[in-house]
Amino acid sequence: MAAENCVFCAIVEGSVPADIVHRDGDVVAFRDIAPKAPVHILVVPREHIASLDDTDAGAESVLGRLVGAARDLARSEGLAQDGYRVVVNNGAAAGQSVDHLHVHVLGGRDLGWPPG
Ligand code: 5GP
Ligand code: ZN
Repeated sequence: MAAENCVFCAIVEGSVPADIVHRDGDVVAFRDIAPKAPVHILVVPREHIASLDDTDAGAESVLGRLVGAARDLARSEGLAQDGYRVVVNNGAAAGQSVDHLHVHVLGGRDLGWPPG
């Protein structure tokens, strides 16, 4: 069920526009509005889940779908050969700014490690 005032629920529903690159019964993927790399895609569950920490063992299927979609998008965006990064920010200290679980797919340039 969609959460009120959640921009990613609104993108999933189609009431806020986004550059959607994938959708299926479980997940939706779209380009980040403020990309941090030449390719920067967000993969989100259709269901409103606030964060990774709001999941438990019952969410393993959707978590697998999120990471599997990230892998497939990395391939279709041509990132697989050079490499790419898949990131989940959880909570304030990690910089999570949208409280709807999302997986970042970043690539198209060399990515420094460790992240800030
Ligand atoms: P976080 O910092 O929570 O891990 O990542 C949230 C990401 O969502 C940020 O990279 C930010 O640029 C992106 N974002 C925030 N609002 C919107 C939006 O309305 N549309 C899209 N496409 N991306 C958004
Ligand atoms: Zn939401």
